[in-house]
Amino acid sequence: MIRSVLVANRGEIARRVFRACRQLGLKTVAVFSEADRDSPHVREADQAMAIGSAPAHDSYLNIDRILEAARTSRADAIHPGYGFLSENWRFAEACRRAGLIFVGPSPDAIRQMGDKTEARRLMAAAGIVVVPGSHETVADAGEAERVAREIGYPVILKAVAGGGGIGMTRVDKPQDLSTAFATATRRAQAAFGRRDVYIERYLDRPRHVEIQVFGDGKGTTVHLHERECSIQRRHQKLVEEAPAPNLAPAVKDGLAGAAVAGARAVGYVNAGTLEFLVDAAGDFYFLEMNTRLQVEHPVTEEVTGLDLVVAQLRVAQGERLPWRQEEIAQRRAAIECRVYAEDPAKGFLPSPGKVERLELPSGEGIRIESGVEAGSVVPVHYDPLLFKLITHGTSRAEAVERMAAVLERSVVEGVRTTIPFLRRVLASDALRQGRVHTQMVEQGAFDG
Ligand code: ADP
Repeated sequence: MIRSVLVANRGEIARRVFRACRQLGLKTVAVFSEADRDSPHVREADQAMAIGSAPAHDSYLNIDRILEAARTSRADAIHPGYGFLSENWRFAEACRRAGLIFVGPSPDAIRQMGDKTEARRLMAAAGIVVVPGSHETVADAGEAERVAREIGYPVILKAVAGGGGIGMTRVDKPQDLSTAFATATRRAQAAFGRRDVYIERYLDRPRHVEIQVFGDGKGTTVHLHERECSIQRRHQKLVEEAPAPNLAPAVKDGLAGAAVAGARAVGYVNAGTLEFLVDAAGDFYFLEMNTRLQVEHPVTEEVTGLDLVVAQLRVAQGERLPWRQEEIAQRRAAIECRVYAEDPAKGFLPSPGKVERLELPSGEGIRIESGVEAGSVVPVHYDPLLFKLITHGTSRAEAVERMAAVLERSVVEGVRTTIPFLRRVLASDALRQGRVHTQMVEQGAFDG
């Protein structure tokens, strides 16, 4: 049984996990870097442990320091949140070896899905259609050219160990491939410490639709339906919603069925997400699996009425999932906007600094997950997510209308934010009509 949970993370997600812990009567332990000494997540926990200087490799990515903090604070479980060590199988294994419960899947599942070519092989073997491309690391530019010729241009080179939209290189014609291959391997090495890349066909204006899954390791594996996450910049999500608008029921069923089959095939335990690209014809292709709680999980919670973090903690301590598939329904519509300290007018350049003023509305159908308050300093060292705005409604139109109003009434001063951009997205015909694809932002669809 878990009594005390250390959250190896910061910002809004640390606070989100603490809230679930309090609901279950569990003690909470925060960790913090020097840059986060005065952060809300630190004050909010029952105990807070300093783990090092501001650079993440010295604190939030430092496995030894985090395990030491767990020992000293006598925590018996670690929740990794998202980002940082959440998809590091060595960390999950180190937790186990230290006698701690890792709130997440097995190290094996993390390792298998973290290798994107292995994930593609496993999913293909489970009968799921993956994005056309290589199922193995591509050895050199010559081999890349052969694979690209087979699948047809444009193609995209991706890091086998990739994540966060980093290091993807699109190639439109054969002449560009060898230079692009060199760039992609260099970037992969720099970002992930592993130079391996693979190739996929670059799909034209697909939608990104993902399925939330959950397994308890005791025979139950369910899905909690889909999330539409096509509004992205730099291949990273900015707006997510559920249910996915204008998606045929047969396609949704196909996606959900594939996701559950995929999760079962790897014996998946705890919360996870299978991501897919869906083309205009409604054909879908497995993209990758995230073996953790996702940033956009609140959308699913608002729609289904279920608490994913509470379920994560329960399953981590060996309980059965109390959910039956036929009882998990999309009862409402919900949408989430990510507010980053970034300047949309400058290509979403990070805008660290001090939040001088912060006013966020509250009320019926509004949920806010924030890592900051007035006076907070946004460090340069981490992902600059400030807070997430989530609205729900009985219909999509109601949720969208609420979000537009929330964005109008949200005030942040001191740092640039994505709010002006999000207001334009919410006002656009494309969003209003639910006709979105992943290349809209880069194509300037929401430029002011
Ligand atoms: P990461 O793990 O870095 O997040 P993903 O494989 O999940 O990378 O892809 C992130 C996003 O990049 C997708 O949602 C999509 O917008 C774009 N993308 C990735 N692969 C392709 C592809 N083959 N064709 C078109 N877009 C792609």
